[in-house]
Amino acid sequence: MSLRARLALVLAGTMVGPLLAAGLIVGVMVPRATDRAADSDLRQAVSATTTVLGERCLGLADLATAAAARLASAGPASRTDAATASALVGPLVAARPGATVMLVTTDQTIAAAGPLASGWDPRTAAGASCSRRSAVATELVEWAELPVVTGVPPARVVAVQPVDGAVLDALRRSLDLGDVQLVLLAEPDRGQPGGPASERPVARTQASRDGVAGMRRALARASAGTVTGEVDGWRFRLSRAPGVPFGLVALTPAAGDGLQRTLLAVVVLAAAALIGTLTVITNRLTRPLAQLTGVARRLGGGDLTARTGIRGTDEVGSLAAAFDKMADDLESTVEELRSSQSALSHTFARFGEALGATHDLESLLRTVVQAVMRGSEAVVGTAYLGDAKSLDLRFVEPEDAPSGHLASSAEAMAGLADLADDAARSEELVVTDLVDAAGPALAVPLRREERVIGVLAVARDTGEAPFDALALDAVTALAAHAGTAVANVRVHEETSRQSVTDSLTGAGNYRHLKSTLAKEVERATRFSRPLSLLMLDLDHFKQVNDTAGHAFGDAVLREFARRLFGCLREVDVVARYGGEEFVVVLPETAAEGACAVAARIVEAVRHEPFRAGSKSRTVTVSVGVSSFPDHGRNSSELMRAADAALYTAKRDGRDRWVLAGASGGKGVAVAQTG
Ligand code: GH3
Ligand code: MG
Ligand code: MG
Repeated sequence: MSLRARLALVLAGTMVGPLLAAGLIVGVMVPRATDRAADSDLRQAVSATTTVLGERCLGLADLATAAAARLASAGPASRTDAATASALVGPLVAARPGATVMLVTTDQTIAAAGPLASGWDPRTAAGASCSRRSAVATELVEWAELPVVTGVPPARVVAVQPVDGAVLDALRRSLDLGDVQLVLLAEPDRGQPGGPASERPVARTQASRDGVAGMRRALARASAGTVTGEVDGWRFRLSRAPGVPFGLVALTPAAGDGLQRTLLAVVVLAAAALIGTLTVITNRLTRPLAQLTGVARRLGGGDLTARTGIRGTDEVGSLAAAFDKMADDLESTVEELRSSQSALSHTFARFGEALGATHDLESLLRTVVQAVMRGSEAVVGTAYLGDAKSLDLRFVEPEDAPSGHLASSAEAMAGLADLADDAARSEELVVTDLVDAAGPALAVPLRREERVIGVLAVARDTGEAPFDALALDAVTALAAHAGTAVANVRVHEETSRQSVTDSLTGAGNYRHLKSTLAKEVERATRFSRPLSLLMLDLDHFKQVNDTAGHAFGDAVLREFARRLFGCLREVDVVARYGGEEFVVVLPETAAEGACAVAARIVEAVRHEPFRAGSKSRTVTVSVGVSSFPDHGRNSSELMRAADAALYTAKRDGRDRWVLAGASGGKGVAVAQTG
């Protein structure tokens, strides 16, 4: 069941009680109370009216009694002579306005006095008798008769007084009956119960006309006593009181329907208002939650721009604000992740390209260190080559660090070197939150296959956050690729070196000589710099081989090369030109310097016998010297001049050096025996 439905149920539950109570009051209690009030009014009206009408009957009886007494005392003439009789009862009638007194026999009216004296005959006319309690007529009502008047012919005295609508209206007013109307019904004749006369009203108040028609059936059923009921919109009370010759009906408009309808309308309106309020409240309460749910779904579906936009100080408002803040954070985090991911893949792509394209170890180390620094957000990076026994610092980034920078700080460099040692020894990634004079640092081994061939160490700035898993993963992945690349470049460099190196002596080979000499001649030409060339040939080497063996000859060649290197500078280039012939290129060296070097070499070779195993021989060397530009302006001219000078040295007795002639090596300028 949805939250909205539950909420609506709870609210409806709390409101249904009062609504039912209202319905009960309107539907049952109000009509009942109204009926009770109406019944009470009717009872009072019936009681008061009965009392008044009863008193009228008693009054008429008194009048008839007084008149009969007077006529009896006056003698028989008074009962036969109309004038006498009228004169006798006249004062009595005058004392009671509205009343009429008649003297009647079974055949005729003998005398009469009062407003009804003519035109009303008790034997045929309608009326109700207080004395006989029978209903015989409808129009004029209420009389009293003296039951026994002696004499012949027998006669009776009748006192009569009309009771009609006007009388009842006056009665209503005088009794202050409010909206209660009165109807008098002729008392049913005991001889003919339920006869037509019994249902007819004798008199009624003005406003009661509408109420009588439907009442007849109810009245017909009510043969005696008191009946209360409601018919055709009227509430009535019928009473048959002793001493009153009528059925008295008091009636009042039944209040029920109008009021009940109004109250019912109010209840319906209240219910409608309740349903409306319920809907509004439920919607108000649940709409933000529905919105929240929708936004959560959109976020879950990947739409990180989804926000509730709900504001407010209530709980839902706070929840929505917190939710939106969370979505903001999520969006920016994902954004950062995406950008760092794209930076990382960019780094990897460039890194891959660089690895493929770089054959120079230093540029490769630069690329690798820079990539690892980017991947780990470090500010300083170093590359070491070697293993746990010997680790050489080969590269630092930034290369030209300003003073005060981590890369130029001795403590930081020492810290990174220690970390690199740890990594080389443990052969694992080493991470520390704090390295001397820097921030978090890490060192990762470079491997060729399983063997450690170097270490990369980087550090973040002081106060920076420690490396997270993402950075460590990136560094590890970069280092794995870098290890292979570094190993490959080193293999490549070794191969290149070997391709220009003589394997026996370690000197350059002929190819190396050619390219070096061409480069040096080019440089000397462009910058007008001095350059010299030595051509060396061991003396009588064939004999050495022949007498001491080829292996000893090889050993002599190796030792000769060693002594040769010992006489030269770093920048000088040595090449093995032929079997036991060598060439030395001396950049930035004029003829004089070159001759000094040649002399040193001749001396170094001659000075000490060459030894290998148990064998020992004294070997000498002859040297031809040529210089740029005096003895030649290109490689071949310089070579030819040196060769010619060497030939001269051999010819002159060996174990000496000779400087080529200025004219292309034809003459011998200097010849020395050391
Ligand atoms: P000289 O130069 O003084 O005129 O006499 P030489 O005996 O040195 O004459 P030559 O230059 O003709 O002889 C060169 C010898 O060097 C021939 C060969 O046996 C020897 N030789 C050349 N290359 C090698 C090498 O790689 N190892 C050894 N052991 N001997 C070599
Ligand atoms: Mg030779
Ligand atoms: Mg030789």
